[in-house]
Amino acid sequence: MLKTIVFATHNPHKLEEVRSMLPRGIHLKSLEDIGCHEPIPETGETLEENALIKAAYVSQTYGLDCFADDTGLEVEALNGAPGVFSARYAGPDADARANMAKLLGALQGEGHRKARFRTVIALILDGRTHMFEGVVQGEILSRAEGTEGFGYDPLFRPEGSDRSFARYTMEEKNAVSHRGRAFRKLEAFLRKAL
Ligand code: IMP
Repeated sequence: MLKTIVFATHNPHKLEEVRSMLPRGIHLKSLEDIGCHEPIPETGETLEENALIKAAYVSQTYGLDCFADDTGLEVEALNGAPGVFSARYAGPDADARANMAKLLGALQGEGHRKARFRTVIALILDGRTHMFEGVVQGEILSRAEGTEGFGYDPLFRPEGSDRSFARYTMEEKNAVSHRGRAFRKLEAFLRKAL
């Protein structure tokens, strides 16, 4: 028997990536697949809250098992900012370039540049909630490097590496990234649970 689980995302890229990681017995659906076109408000103050809001919305509105993720870049010298506001750090419609420019400005003259990416996944399965977390530690470079990836990748160099994430292939990045780590935890959990 196939188990239907919704991944609360509108991003077809993310859906395919995650689909390839999950056990065979799962029929993974996107928000489009279940006819959920309305925006789900991300009003939480933490990554955990936002992931949970999204998963709970789908589970309550559509009566389906669901998981949702939320990711943020947490910079030590900025007390964890931009964190949950990473996508809209430089404003509601900010693009990656504007967000990176704001980050570089905020860290101007700052020697302490430790940061981490953190992904949180909330899974609601058979009425129970399960949380998973993936973290990659690193530092913020003083200028953008590389062209791969997205978001803050050109400014983030993982610990122990001599390259920014924007100089990693997708496979290399998935092997060590916050998102890769969090989704491998979800995958391991589902393999046991189903
Ligand atoms: P989301 O929760 O996956 O939508 O991520 C929120 C924001 O965090 C994105 O809009 C990006 O600005 C940033 N972000 C998330 N994951 C990454 C990544 O792997 N590299 C660079 N930036 C990221």
